[in-house]
Amino acid sequence: MMSSLSLGLKTACIEKRGSLGGTCLNVGCIPSKALLNSTHLYHQILHDTKQRGIEVSDVKVNLDQLQKAKETSVNGLTKGIEILFKQNKVDYFKGTGSFINEHEIKVDAIEGGENATLKAKNIIIATGSEATPFPGIEVDEERIVTSTGALALKEVPKRLAVIGGGIIGLEMGSVWSRLGAEVTVIEFQNAIGAGMDAEVSKNTQKLLGKQGLKFKTGTKVVSGKREGDVVKIEVENVKNGKSETLEADVLLVAVGRRPYTAGLGLEKIGVEVDEKGRVVMDQEFRTNKPHIRVIGDVTFGAMLAHKAEEEGVAAVEYIKKGHGHVNYGAIPSVMYTHPEVAWVGQNEEQLKAAGIKYNVGKFPFLANSRAKTNLDTDGFVKFLSDKETDRVLGVHIIGPNAGEMIAEAVLAVEYGASSEDIARTCHAHPTLSEAFKEAAMATYDKAIHF
Ligand code: NAD
Repeated sequence: MMSSLSLGLKTACIEKRGSLGGTCLNVGCIPSKALLNSTHLYHQILHDTKQRGIEVSDVKVNLDQLQKAKETSVNGLTKGIEILFKQNKVDYFKGTGSFINEHEIKVDAIEGGENATLKAKNIIIATGSEATPFPGIEVDEERIVTSTGALALKEVPKRLAVIGGGIIGLEMGSVWSRLGAEVTVIEFQNAIGAGMDAEVSKNTQKLLGKQGLKFKTGTKVVSGKREGDVVKIEVENVKNGKSETLEADVLLVAVGRRPYTAGLGLEKIGVEVDEKGRVVMDQEFRTNKPHIRVIGDVTFGAMLAHKAEEEGVAAVEYIKKGHGHVNYGAIPSVMYTHPEVAWVGQNEEQLKAAGIKYNVGKFPFLANSRAKTNLDTDGFVKFLSDKETDRVLGVHIIGPNAGEMIAEAVLAVEYGASSEDIARTCHAHPTLSEAFKEAAMATYDKAIHF
């Protein structure tokens, strides 16, 4: 829980983990990106540097050190928040918070904290989410793991099975596949990528497949059980009902996350929660108790740290100034595999379903000078713009640095740019971002270099 940062409100934050930064910093975005970055480097040394004239022998993975490097990043960032709290005079209470009544919160101290009762005029609930359990599959965070266990494996499993071909499944699948695990991703839908543009999803599956990940799409998991050091997973083809039993050394359950409010005492004070456990809010982030607001994974919308951050700022602005804003149409998504996949706005399937007429413009990295120079040419940039007005409705990128490049697309969507606006904006040469410009050109007219 938190309240305002720099708008001058007297603020306290209660946190029970023992370190600040929530799921993202401790067991989510940051540690996973640390592992993705290091394992990409390893994978490049094994499979890519030789063609560039760099021959490395005796390449070994020291998993302990790899994990330590990850922890250094995590610790640096969580400690950084403590420093920011001090600088901004935010009181940090180490403990579990629960409502006594609508204005008072009890803090049950953890180690290093002190029991307390806090009285607040405004309260923000930001308790996040937890991995959705799979009915009948018991997580032990050793052999059957959530993303938390998958980030901390002590050895590389020979076989890793993943339930769920969403972002966690594909990012963690990539990490362990690069380190040598045989990875099989079991996905209920016919496509991976949980909501990616279908064309991008297909390409992602192809490229990850080339890296060695195996996919069983359109496949339902019936059961999963640990037997000694082996996990047996019974699966069924959704279409023809054919079943088979897979064996793995580690099973990662990554079928989504659900809001987390355990122990908060919401029922005691009558804060409304919907059938999915999400704390219900209005447009000003107010729960049914107007002085209690809610942001992030524990309420509606994409479970993304940057979405929660925007909401946090807007919620506090509502408290302090009476106005605030989050543009939910301009929240980017990034998957940090290699190549990266990033998107913002609507995809083709959504536009079709909404009956919106659109233009498509694409540009492959294969025709981009920098990508060619870097010998890293997989993927493309795809624009979708309104057929009549040329306003950018969605941008979907699979390719090197897509996660950085998407910022330009978010700005375009936020400012209501047309694809022609972008196409007529000078982009430095030679950069990957020229592929972005050329895809915009291809949307309202045609690309120059393809
Ligand atoms: P997800 O929603 O991205 O993907 C879950 C996948 O599991 C979906 O493809 C779904 O079809 C599949 N699935 C569900 N039930 C299944 C079943 N019974 N059998 C087989 N497949 C099944 O969820 P996630 O990957 O667990 O990630 C959780 C949340 O964390 C998401 O909101 C995600 O966006 C977020 N996250 C974001 C990032 C990032 O921004 N890079 C990284 C990690 C997680």
